Amino acid sequence: MLGEDQIDDKGRKYKPQDIKQLFGYMSECDKFAFDNVIFNYQDAWSRYWKLIKTQGKQYKKSALKRIKNGGKPLTNFDIKGHPQFKSKHSATDSYTTNVTNGNIRIKGNTIRIPKIGSIKIIKHQCPQPEWKIKKATITRTKTGKYYISVCFEFEKHIGKITQTTPYKVLGLDYSSPNLYKGSDGSSGDYPKYYRKSEEKLEKEQKKLSHQKLKSGRYKKQRLVVARLHEKVRHQRKDFLHKRSCSITKTFDFVVVEDLDLRNMGQCLRLGKATADNGFGMLRNFISYKLANKGGALIKIDKWFPSSQRCNGCGFVNNAVKDLNVREWECPQCNRLNERDENAAANIKQEGIRLLSTNGITLGDISGKGDSCRSRCQEATLLASKEVDFMVCRSPLRKQGV
Ligand SMILES: [Zn+2]
Repeated sequence: MLGEDQIDDKGRKYKPQDIKQLFGYMSECDKFAFDNVIFNYQDAWSRYWKLIKTQGKQYKKSALKRIKNGGKPLTNFDIKGHPQFKSKHSATDSYTTNVTNGNIRIKGNTIRIPKIGSIKIIKHQCPQPEWKIKKATITRTKTGKYYISVCFEFEKHIGKITQTTPYKVLGLDYSSPNLYKGSDGSSGDYPKYYRKSEEKLEKEQKKLSHQKLKSGRYKKQRLVVARLHEKVRHQRKDFLHKRSCSITKTFDFVVVEDLDLRNMGQCLRLGKATADNGFGMLRNFISYKLANKGGALIKIDKWFPSSQRCNGCGFVNNAVKDLNVREWECPQCNRLNERDENAAANIKQEGIRLLSTNGITLGDISGKGDSCRSRCQEATLLASKEVDFMVCRSPLRKQGV
């Protein structure tokens, strides 16, 4: 994609208005769709240079593996954080448009979008009348469904939590088979949706591989596979929303390790389990849900020896680095440590230490629940919320979008 003042392969300089004149079809889309692409392009580069300044050039693990196996030499695209070209096949079909002079309006069960007009939608959440629309993103999924994600802005009173009790702090340790293990003894119990659909997926994907590329039957079968993937995705998202809700209702602060999940999936032969769990998504959900009530998600250093340290006496046992050790007895205090529970307790302890250094006072350990929590500091913040609407059938197709 060309950015503002970018030079193309023939050495010509383009500006947004020139591109619209050169490529007629560009004037069919609305102005902001184009502006947002240029903004994203520039943003990607500025974020990349910031990353290079702070961390230096780092190559992706997968690229280094490729070199090891005698593959293609390293390029700039193998550097972590380097902007990638848009892929025609794997990219999400979407565009974002902003509001000017109220050109995006919601009335009953319809939404008005510039250049397209009124569209019938299915509402799962009703926006309040005082909420202001900021922008809307229209997305087409691989199964041909259309969604409109509308960003609203409104004022909200969020009381910042400055005092809490250790009972309101939860340490979460990532566990591959169970999603997580909590310091309160809870377990994620992830139902492994991908594994449940794997057999069906395998069958349908095999069928797809036998069809002639881009033929009618191929297109039909591709939809079957895409629908199966979509089902798993929805199941996972629903489960993680429910879990994060129940966690954030009972706890003010959640402590997790700052793990690089993509790296972990590539290195430890845990790829499918790591990708299926969606622990990163759970972290994101918890993070914004806690921020909405004044709490916070605390990330501790990924090199913190959470599994190796005994929670009773602080002895660091290097023999526990082996992932197969599920239970171990501390040689110093003879305490029997269950691997994940011990790690979660250590993570919580480290989180409490970080909280107290950041000016959040923790009440008496003997105190229980809410009794120790003091009045919150009231603060009015400008909050924003994204509400997803599903489009009935696909009226956009008629418009040639
Ligand atoms: Zn010990």
